[in-house]
Amino acid sequence: MKSSKEYDIIIIGGGFYGSMLALFLSLTFKKIAIFEQESQLMTRASYHNQARVHNGYHYPRNFITALRSHANYEKFIATFPEAIDDTFLMTYAIAKNTSKVTSAQFIKLCKQIGAPLRPLSKKVKDLFNTRLIEEIFAVDEIVFNAAKIRKKLEKELKQRKINIYLNREVTSIGAVNELLCVKLKDGKSYTAKKVFLCTYSHINSVLKSSQLPLLSFKHELTEMPLITMPKGLEKFGVTIMDGPFFSIMPFPDRKMHSLHHVRYTPHASWIDERAQTFDKSKINSKFLYMYKDAQRYIPRLSGISYKDSLFEIKTVLTQNEGNDGRPILFRKDHGLKNLYIVLGGKIDNIYDIYNELGKDLGISLKDYIFLS
Ligand SMILES: Cc1cc2nc3c(=O)[nH]c(=O)nc-3n(C[C@H](O)[C@H](O)[C@H](O)COP(=O)(O)OP(=O)(O)OC[C@H]3O[C@@H](n4cnc5c(N)ncnc54)[C@H](O)[C@@H]3O)c2cc1C
Repeated sequence: MKSSKEYDIIIIGGGFYGSMLALFLSLTFKKIAIFEQESQLMTRASYHNQARVHNGYHYPRNFITALRSHANYEKFIATFPEAIDDTFLMTYAIAKNTSKVTSAQFIKLCKQIGAPLRPLSKKVKDLFNTRLIEEIFAVDEIVFNAAKIRKKLEKELKQRKINIYLNREVTSIGAVNELLCVKLKDGKSYTAKKVFLCTYSHINSVLKSSQLPLLSFKHELTEMPLITMPKGLEKFGVTIMDGPFFSIMPFPDRKMHSLHHVRYTPHASWIDERAQTFDKSKINSKFLYMYKDAQRYIPRLSGISYKDSLFEIKTVLTQNEGNDGRPILFRKDHGLKNLYIVLGGKIDNIYDIYNELGKDLGISLKDYIFLS
């Protein structure tokens, strides 16, 4: 053991979750450190995603997830107003064939959760192939700019004097007397009263090397092409529901759109203890399959052009494989006293974790507001 330093809280993983938890915990604890293996915060799943601020529409088969998304939507906008892009027309279309939801069911869900649906102009409706699409709606759903969120989080973390250790891979967690001990690949170790494991697809990797009980996750190696839209559709977003279809939404940080296809975005999936690493240069893009399918629904999409792809491992709880739910995973005293495990299925789940953790530690969400 080369060196040892004691913290109140150590957070492993500097994604959106680790960073946001550090800010929340700084309301009560003084000495907080984040250990992140990459050279910057928020470079993994928190950057490589579709940037959708969910307002509930996406989850017609999971009422609780739809309701919680809608409840958290305005909170997210209030927390990150400078990172929001609402300058485009967002549409949801219901497919006629093989959809798991009808438009009547979709309308009912939106009414139940209070998410507005608006009719579209003929010009927009005419973009869609009516042989394949049952109904189309304009909705209130927006995207976030992950790079702007990172910038804001870095500033807030600095102001609150939270120590950020970059390029530091944690290898294991153990107990030393009343404290928890976090060991790093470089041989150093640090102790803390409480440790939060927020490594998303790598939660089980750290648990396994610590000889702690593993959790049940499904991992997917995903690809989302970044594209430029045809002339006239630069301010357009679409999600086709609910089955093996696709969605296209602006990706503000790259000034392009991202394309997610339920059938082709996952290159591989496995239910396993470890998230495997991948070499992006060795993966053959599935953009062409996505492109050909998308044109069937919206012929004008023949004019999109491919620029690049985002690759990432997506991790969901195996319990939600069939029902599309995206709840939080929040475990306290997991294998060791004061070891917390946190996995958020999507960005806005952070407010649900604040509620859970707030109850546990006596921190009220009312106290929590960004200053700048
Ligand atoms: C293809 C795809 C599309 C998605 N679309 C959306 C969407 O539109 N809207 C939405 O809300 N959500 C979406 N999500 C989900 C969302 O991205 C995740 O819920 C969220 O980013 C998880 O945040 P995190 O901080 O837990 O994970 P991450 O951002 O991955 O952070 C975990 C961090 O831990 C670090 N780490 C890992 N192991 C170690 C270690 N041993 N030591 C130190 N550091 C370590 C990693 O480098 C990483 O920075 C999508 C996800 C994917 C993959």
